[in-house]
Amino acid sequence: MVEVLKELSKDNKKITLQNVWQAKRNIASHINKTPLIFSPKLSNSTNSEIYLKYEHLHESRAFKMRGAFNAICNLTPTQKSLGVTTFSTGNHGFAVALAAKKLGIRAVICVSKHVPKAKIEKIKSLGAQLEIYGDGQDDAEQRCYELVKEQGLTVIPPFDHPEVIAGQGTIALEILEDLPDVNCVLGGLSGGGLLSGIGLVMKSTNSDIKVIGLSMEKGAAMFESLKKGEPVSVNEEPTLADSLLGGIGENNQYTFNMVQQFVDQPILVEEEAIKKGMAYLYKEHNVIVEGAAAIGIGAILNNDVSIVENTKNVIIISGCNVDLDAHANAIKAYL
Ligand SMILES: *Cc1c(COP(=O)(O)O)cnc(C)c1O
Repeated sequence: MVEVLKELSKDNKKITLQNVWQAKRNIASHINKTPLIFSPKLSNSTNSEIYLKYEHLHESRAFKMRGAFNAICNLTPTQKSLGVTTFSTGNHGFAVALAAKKLGIRAVICVSKHVPKAKIEKIKSLGAQLEIYGDGQDDAEQRCYELVKEQGLTVIPPFDHPEVIAGQGTIALEILEDLPDVNCVLGGLSGGGLLSGIGLVMKSTNSDIKVIGLSMEKGAAMFESLKKGEPVSVNEEPTLADSLLGGIGENNQYTFNMVQQFVDQPILVEEEAIKKGMAYLYKEHNVIVEGAAAIGIGAILNNDVSIVENTKNVIIISGCNVDLDAHANAIKAYL
């Protein structure tokens, strides 16, 4: 029955609430439910209730564990025996490495020659094999697809994949468990896997629940694509929200449509606001996060988004892979 549903959903390019419940069952024994924390000060200042969903507490330090685990669980026995690969050196790469290790599956992470040593060490420490190839991300990606042909590895994409999206959607099931009358969810928006999954669950449950997507001011591929009505590529610029960089893929199959359908409001947030958000989490909640995870609080502090009074709002605190010196530097003006 489950197999049939899965095949159907692939044909229709439609991911359903059932797929998200299946993902919850798949990851249940490997991934802990994360806490939903009330933020008294943010709530006071907005005359509403604001809660923080601590997705930085996963073992890989970001929510990407959910999607990576679900995608790898769903592989056939043959695919599992051959192994998986990806070219992300960020939170998705870490998640794939860790999920594969836990499931006893070989993982190869393709990186370019210029990837910093700290990242290489981190990937190695998670038990993955490295393929160092070429001068940039594009070369690493190309190597990844060569490995598919040469060694039969399966690529686990970072966002545009039904099982990855369904995995990220399990965040929303947990939010509804803890806060059934939630009115609005705010989260970082990059490739759109996170908000496609969350949006699907929230809108299927109650179409009045608002979903707000936040991206950095420069190089926001999804924001520009939504504006144009089709996937566009943008130039990347340095940002503290580095986990939100990257394109959405010219041939985007799932997330562009889902974000169009489920995200009520995409918003751009400037760099200083991201810093304010990081400083706020540090000062008020004793939490150290990366820029991408602080963008929701930054947007509220900066009045980029208006929280409706007397409503219940959840901000996704998405990850904490941040260099401590970079963090200290970013927040010092706002302490
Ligand atoms: C990947 C990521 C995001 C954005 O998720 P998408 O599915 O690409 O939109 C936000 N925050 C962190 C920390 C991430 O790693």
